[in-house]
Amino acid sequence: MIAGAGRGPSRYEWPLVTSATGDSASIRLVPLGGLGEIGMNCLAIEQDEGILVVDCGTAFPHDDRGVDVIHPDFQWLLDRADDVVGVFITHGHEDHVGGVPFLLRDLDVPIYASPHALAVIRRRLEEHAVDINDVDLEPILAGQVHEIGPFRVESIRVSHSIVEATAFAIETSAGTVLHTGDFNFDEDPPDGEPTDVERLRELGDSGVALLLSDSTNIDVPVRAGAERNVGGRLQELVASAQHRVFVVMFASNVQRLRMLGEIAQRTQRKICLLGRSLNAQVDIATAVGRLAWPADLKIAAEQARDLPRDRLLILAGGSQAEPTSAAVRLAHGMHQHLAIEPGDAVVFSSRVIPGNEVAVHDLLCSLLRLGARVHTRQSDPDVHTSGHAGRSEQRRMLELVRPRCFVPVHGTLHHLVWHAELARQCGVPVIAVTENGAVLRIDRTGIRPDGTVPHGRVHVAIGGEALDAATLERREELGRSGIAFVSLVVDGSRRLRCGPTVFALGIPAVDSADQRVIAGEVVRALERHRKIGLKDPLLAGEIRRAARRALLGICGYRPPVEVLIQVADP
Ligand SMILES: [Zn+2]
Ligand SMILES: [Zn+2]
Repeated sequence: MIAGAGRGPSRYEWPLVTSATGDSASIRLVPLGGLGEIGMNCLAIEQDEGILVVDCGTAFPHDDRGVDVIHPDFQWLLDRADDVVGVFITHGHEDHVGGVPFLLRDLDVPIYASPHALAVIRRRLEEHAVDINDVDLEPILAGQVHEIGPFRVESIRVSHSIVEATAFAIETSAGTVLHTGDFNFDEDPPDGEPTDVERLRELGDSGVALLLSDSTNIDVPVRAGAERNVGGRLQELVASAQHRVFVVMFASNVQRLRMLGEIAQRTQRKICLLGRSLNAQVDIATAVGRLAWPADLKIAAEQARDLPRDRLLILAGGSQAEPTSAAVRLAHGMHQHLAIEPGDAVVFSSRVIPGNEVAVHDLLCSLLRLGARVHTRQSDPDVHTSGHAGRSEQRRMLELVRPRCFVPVHGTLHHLVWHAELARQCGVPVIAVTENGAVLRIDRTGIRPDGTVPHGRVHVAIGGEALDAATLERREELGRSGIAFVSLVVDGSRRLRCGPTVFALGIPAVDSADQRVIAGEVVRALERHRKIGLKDPLLAGEIRRAARRALLGICGYRPPVEVLIQVADP
């Protein structure tokens, strides 16, 4: 196995044919995101005359440090700005397009994507105040071939939970590279566009040098079922409900939005959309002709409450219990326009992303307290299916494409290793596992590791500013321990003019008597260190030490302390 930089030797040894040369018939695979993690997908393919990027996504934080999104560190691309010929986007999910506005801030490069994914990108660019007229956005359709720099890129339709998802067959000097994007083999998806199995087989027949395939669901032996099964179950639930039905879902699941539109019409209900993302996704899918709800199907939330309860189908965001989401506001009786009443059905047509279990569980309990009938995947397995291939479909992809070399993508090291193991079982001759930053060189004989490149995660704060490692660490520390401030004003002969004032934030058990104790220690430290100049940072350091020692006696630990010494005019 070829693992990420600096991780030491692995216990896994893959049959690895090493090629000795770095000749022009080889390419370099440069993973910048999505390998060794879920989300933030971004992979560069480099050959002599150019660099092509596949996907440019974001990830969401799992902690609470005020981070809005995380995107890949693009420095390696920026250092080679003249060589980057284009960014190809497999589909419009955030983990594939969310990073585009951040990349385009610093790099002038054309973006190739399906009309639907381009519409998602346009909306993101507007939100980031990027002038769309300055950006080269190129639509690509399934079946089309684009010649970009030294590459020839064919777009192949794959089925996924979003519409217009594509795989890319990329002609390179080392042969054909097939990147699956996110895919499944749903034979009858609601948009009527299943994965182009025939084209994948043809490519396999003519020889694929390297397959890069989505590993997300390697732990799922067989995907829960087809998207239309979910539609069937949702139809039953809505048709049998006496009252309102709330469906909590991922906003970007356009396949499901299509079916819910049909279900609403069949059950004579109006659809009310709650949540900004859902409204945006419905607008985008409608604008590009992928969602054709009748004009009178939707009803605004303001009017929805006046409709009889059995005439309403409400679609709401918040499947991960995001604090400001519609589902959470409904559960807490805080929604501006609608309230859940006993007997209403709430269907979680979604899965819980690892890390969100506790919050989602609390949300379910709050809904039960309101008297809602709650349906989840646990109680009703057919209310959701994943858009990602399970292991059986990943195997089918390997068997169709029959690549010479295989590198699993999209997943933590666990996902990548097990997907590699599946490829070994399928008889793929050359397999390598790599993580972000660890480069692979591929030629017509095999794969070899080829050094590392700068890579990393850029944390963007709510408000849009990037947070460096020191700031993130500080936020973590402040969240853990609180902070105290000590401020004092002295004159040139060290007489106290004001203070010391002690102010504690987020520190338990510090009352005014404690503040006086701390202030006393500060005054003594000032006396003790008369030899240190008032403006010497060493003095603030000594005062900080004294204050922290006093705090240890009060609250049992040493929180961070900031010291401000002002010297008054004589
Ligand atoms: Zn996706
Ligand atoms: Zn994805």
